[in-house]
Amino acid sequence: MSIIFLDIDGVLVTMNSVSPFVFDPKCVKKLNVILKETDADIVVSSTWRVIEPIERLIKKFKVEGVEGRIISITPVLNGDDNSRGNEIAKWIQENNFKGKFIVIDDDSDIEPFEKVWVQTTWENGLTDSNVEQAIHLLKG
Ligand SMILES: [Mg+2]
Repeated sequence: MSIIFLDIDGVLVTMNSVSPFVFDPKCVKKLNVILKETDADIVVSSTWRVIEPIERLIKKFKVEGVEGRIISITPVLNGDDNSRGNEIAKWIQENNFKGKFIVIDDDSDIEPFEKVWVQTTWENGLTDSNVEQAIHLLKG
C-alpha cells in the first residue's frame, strides 16, 4: 500500500478553476492517471480538511471525478511546529506507516520530505511532468 499526501489548492484547484471551490478538470484527469498507475490511497493534507469533515471531502472528490480513495486526513498541529511536513510526519508516526509515499503540494513547508515532494504551482496545478515524477517515485 502506498500513499499520496495530497494538497488541494495549487494542485487540483488552480488559477484556472471557475471558483475557489471547483477543481480544475485537467488536474483531476492527471491525478486519476497517478491513481490508476499506482493504486495509491489519498491522505488529505490540504487546509480544506480543517473546514470540511472527511465525509464531505470524500463526496467532493467523487463529484469532481477523482477515481481514488481518501482514507484519512493529516492531524492539525498548532504552534511553532504546524508545518505541512510536521503534520505529515505526525500522521506517519501515529499510523506506524512503513510504505511508500509522496507529497503533492505547491507549498514548500514539506520538510523533511523534499525527496518525495512533487511540487506543483498555483498557475498550473498538476502537470504531466508531475504525473511522471509521482509515478516514478511511487513505483520506482
Ligand atoms: Mg496549496
